[in-house]
Amino acid sequence: MPVSPLTLNNWVKPVHYDLKLDIDPTSSNFKGDALYTVKANSTTFDSFKLHCQDLVIISPKIIDKTNTIDLKVNYDKENQMVIFQLKDPSTSNVILESMDFTLSFSYIGKINSVKTNNDSTFGVFKSNFMDQTTGRSDNYIIATHCQPSFARTIFPCIDEPNIKTTFQLTLITLSKFKAISNSSISSTEIIEKTKKTIFQFNKTPLMTTSIFSFAIGDLEFMKGETKLPVSNRTIPIRIYAIKDVSLATFALDTVQKYLPILESYFNYSYPLDKLDFVLLPFLTDMAMENLGMITIHMNHMLLPPNILADKSISQQVQQVLVHELVHQWMGNTISFDSWEYLWFNEAFATWLACALLQENDDLSNYWDSDDYQIQILGSAMLNDSSKNSKSIYDISHKNIDDKKNVTSKSSTQDFFDAHSYNKGIAILRSFERCTGSNNVKLGLQKVFADKFFIEQCVKPLDIWTHVGNTLKSKNISNFFYSWTKLAGIPIVSVKMDDSKVNLTQHRFSNDIIDEKSRNEIEDVPYHIPLLSLLKDGGSDEKNVLMTDRTLTLDDTPILLLNHNSQGYYYVSYESIESYELISQSILNNTITEIDLLKIFDDIHAFLNTTYYQKPIHIEGALKLLKVLASDKIDLSSLIYLKPICKGLEVLQTITNSELLSNISNRNKKFKTIMIDSIIMPLFQKLKFSLKSPLFTEEELMNQTKLQILAQLLSLGKNEKLIIEYCSIYFKHVLQGPKQSIPFDIVSSTYIVNSTHFTTLKNWKKLFDLIKNSKGIASHIIDIDSNDKNQITALQNMALESISFSLELELINKVLNFINNSIDLTGIETSLFGLTFNGKCHVLSKGKPEKNNKLVEEIVWDWYTKYYPIWVKKASRPGSQASQNTRKSLHNITMVVFQMYATHDSAIKSFIKTSEEAIYNDTINLESIWNNVETRLQPKRKTLENMKLACV
Ligand SMILES: [Zn+2]
Repeated sequence: MPVSPLTLNNWVKPVHYDLKLDIDPTSSNFKGDALYTVKANSTTFDSFKLHCQDLVIISPKIIDKTNTIDLKVNYDKENQMVIFQLKDPSTSNVILESMDFTLSFSYIGKINSVKTNNDSTFGVFKSNFMDQTTGRSDNYIIATHCQPSFARTIFPCIDEPNIKTTFQLTLITLSKFKAISNSSISSTEIIEKTKKTIFQFNKTPLMTTSIFSFAIGDLEFMKGETKLPVSNRTIPIRIYAIKDVSLATFALDTVQKYLPILESYFNYSYPLDKLDFVLLPFLTDMAMENLGMITIHMNHMLLPPNILADKSISQQVQQVLVHELVHQWMGNTISFDSWEYLWFNEAFATWLACALLQENDDLSNYWDSDDYQIQILGSAMLNDSSKNSKSIYDISHKNIDDKKNVTSKSSTQDFFDAHSYNKGIAILRSFERCTGSNNVKLGLQKVFADKFFIEQCVKPLDIWTHVGNTLKSKNISNFFYSWTKLAGIPIVSVKMDDSKVNLTQHRFSNDIIDEKSRNEIEDVPYHIPLLSLLKDGGSDEKNVLMTDRTLTLDDTPILLLNHNSQGYYYVSYESIESYELISQSILNNTITEIDLLKIFDDIHAFLNTTYYQKPIHIEGALKLLKVLASDKIDLSSLIYLKPICKGLEVLQTITNSELLSNISNRNKKFKTIMIDSIIMPLFQKLKFSLKSPLFTEEELMNQTKLQILAQLLSLGKNEKLIIEYCSIYFKHVLQGPKQSIPFDIVSSTYIVNSTHFTTLKNWKKLFDLIKNSKGIASHIIDIDSNDKNQITALQNMALESISFSLELELINKVLNFINNSIDLTGIETSLFGLTFNGKCHVLSKGKPEKNNKLVEEIVWDWYTKYYPIWVKKASRPGSQASQNTRKSLHNITMVVFQMYATHDSAIKSFIKTSEEAIYNDTINLESIWNNVETRLQPKRKTLENMKLACV
């Protein structure tokens, strides 16, 4: 049964919690005294409820101006509530004097012991640790974690996000302890003849129960202070830890720098007169933004200078800290009335933290970095490219509904959805780009200036409606409504027609294969910020937002949309004029690296679809790559390397589609363009050396350049020059010297060499590396011979490359090897070369083999011959070997079906005859074939499109 929120139907609401907690670290319980200020709905007494878990309540009473009324309690354990009723039923007609009264009771609560990172930290929890001087493990830290609903294990309360109250805490504990809570200490009083002290804290501002917090223990601290510009105060900042607190200097500096920046960003006073950080040895959620007392797992903050010297680590530390600081305003001061908005709370904190860190020179080019473009934006876009993707609204609603039924042990993670978080950051970023960061700041400042937002718990849309009012734009709330209520991601197609540019938008999806399947998914126009870049480098101020299906821009010389990948959509350029303009801007060096990268990135995404890829994408990609490979572009400045790398990935995808086609039918024009105008010119331009050492320091530092080399090697694997390079690289892999070959090119080196093996002797050199690569590990840069995973990775590369030769003798060797090692995990990867060469003629000692067979025929005959034997092996009950064989059988079938897919009638009849055999439950051939067919659809389309593009 779903439980309706207490804030909706309870007789009373607490407005102030006064708590006195007596905590002895050696006990597993704590004692509490509660004195709550409460507002009732009416003066007629009724029973009422509070959330309560693992607490025992003693002598509860209502105290109003003249009466003290004794109560009794019942526990509703399932719903984690306590029900307060009149103790004496004969006084059931009690009428209170006013609707305000005090609720008083004592109680006993639980202290959870936490010993390892696997123990979850919630409610009040303690851990003990060693005293540095005595060596005894009798030092303690006791801390709290309330989000999302663990406050109820510390004190009975309405533990819901849609109510704010004030708190006044008193802690009675050992005098030697430090005591920290949300607000500052107002007084301390030593209790005579005991080792205890009463720590009294100031009343807090209005806040929710989930950010209530305290910590006590044997703690060290480091102190600084910072001057706040809006409230014109200097406030202390302390960082507490159980040891090594001096390692938190960098963290302290960061907080001192950013707290004032945030106060002036929101133009709203930081709500307290101090800020503390408590670094905990254990914390499940890693960091928690409790008002005025942020807790963070100490491993993320206590870092020695040599570790912090790594920029990516120090930036991570700053991102965590500033994210938590943002929450002090957004999330804590303004808070949200339901857990369904957790995605927004978190996305906002990350977005603003990154924006401010970049503005203040602590992050450089964050929004162009792989951290944002790939990890956040890229993964959200990929997720939304499925027809089954749900809107942020639907996901968060579902998370809430699921949790209403399960109240116990729900964690913040249950309400957190990584996709909504990533997408949230991307839409905030895109909103800021099209609205202007100053306007966004101004709008948010007006929100903070409105008391309603401070006193009530709100919805994100309330904020954007208010910002829209301030900026006099209705579009703002519609924008957020569109991106949270609509599922998926749009694609905008750009067609140029004389002086006109026609834009059309649809929902994008990988799963659409034709007009019919497109009509099956919801396709409502999105609010798309165009972020267009004009030919002259300026931006289009006239057409900012596209809200309809189509938009025609007259006399607007558009170069591209989604400038610098700031929006959340794909762009499909569908006129050759677009690619000509972009080529020109490459030649003039006026297009940014990220813009060019995004164009290839989007084309790559289209090639994975059946419906949205078009011949023009291939034509365009080839055109741009040709320009990048031409002499007119100087690559020594290393600009455009990332786009080239992505562009080569596009080429690889196009090339792979050719594997479906017979050698004699393949497109000569495509091959000529690819090899003569792209691969070889690029290879020569990048000037790799064959002199020792093979790679300069500078080349080794540039991973993108090494990845490009790896792609050029494998795409140009039949070119004389590349074969020559690879044979030397292979010699270095086998014989050293130490640290001479970068890991990134090992796989391509293997493939190129394997392709040209003609003798068993050479083939054996690579084959031996499958079983043991430890001997060569030291020749590979940055590989540790003692790291098992790295050695396995090297061995897998040898396995994946072993079958690229066309020599019949070597093909048979590989097939025998697979047959003998059928229960080896990953064995199917040794078929990769054979599938790649499926449509090629087999050779015998360098000459055409006498039957003139194709590789795919040899493999198919082999597969169908051994299939029944493997099935038998896989059907033996129980053993690990048969389980592994079953897995290999499934994967080998998948690979072989893919290779042989053009012979669908042979495959279908094989499936039919095999299914009549008795092995049905071992393997489902039908479903594997369906799967392969689906996967091949985009490839077939690419092959078709490539032929149309290269006539
Ligand atoms: Zn957060």
